[in-house]
Amino acid sequence: MSDMNSAMIDKYRNDFLKEVEANVEEGEWVKMCMQCGVCSGSCPLGKHWSHPPQEIFMMIRAGQRDEVLGSDSMWMCTSCYNCIVRCPREVPITHIMHGLAHYAKRLGLSPKGQPTQQFSQMFWDNMMKKGRVNELKLGLSLYFKDGFGQGVKNALANQKLGQNMMKAKRMSPMEILGGHSLKDVGGFQKMIQKAQELEEARLKNGK
Ligand code: SF4
Ligand code: SF4
Repeated sequence: MSDMNSAMIDKYRNDFLKEVEANVEEGEWVKMCMQCGVCSGSCPLGKHWSHPPQEIFMMIRAGQRDEVLGSDSMWMCTSCYNCIVRCPREVPITHIMHGLAHYAKRLGLSPKGQPTQQFSQMFWDNMMKKGRVNELKLGLSLYFKDGFGQGVKNALANQKLGQNMMKAKRMSPMEILGGHSLKDVGGFQKMIQKAQELEEARLKNGK
């Protein structure tokens, strides 16, 4: 168990709602949910998840910490915003879903090997190198994540998509040489590192 997870269990023992309110983006809205189920009914993907949004909010209030933070449901949210526009209480559901996923990852509780989470990490690592996303290298990282043989199969299966992206100038084969970059990459990386340190300190101090 990570140190931060142990600290949070000690700090918020038996009050998961309070923990969510203090540490998850827009978490203070969870108590406004009236369990009408409109969000779950409106979510195009929710029926395929273990726990659609309305159920997640009910579980938070019921103190089901391990089940919520270990769930892969939040990682499946595509940010389509269907739920938000229909919620009669105007709960920022999408933000809470992503906030929960982020919080679970920081505590080391998110499900291992979950594909969306893997892709999010790849995207972040790619973007952090030069402050801009290198689409070609991101695509290659994704295709080849399970080894060379599978990578070739993935690339062949999706070659039409790649060609269309190049035709539309959304991706360039020249990006293999390095790709575009921010002028001050070092400054950008320092800024992000500082923001992360401040956020870590905030989480530790519970402010
Ligand atoms: S639509 Fe809003 S109020 Fe209804 S269950 Fe979903 S979050 Fe709760
Ligand atoms: S934003 Fe996420 S939770 Fe809301 S309806 Fe879309 S996929 Fe479902």
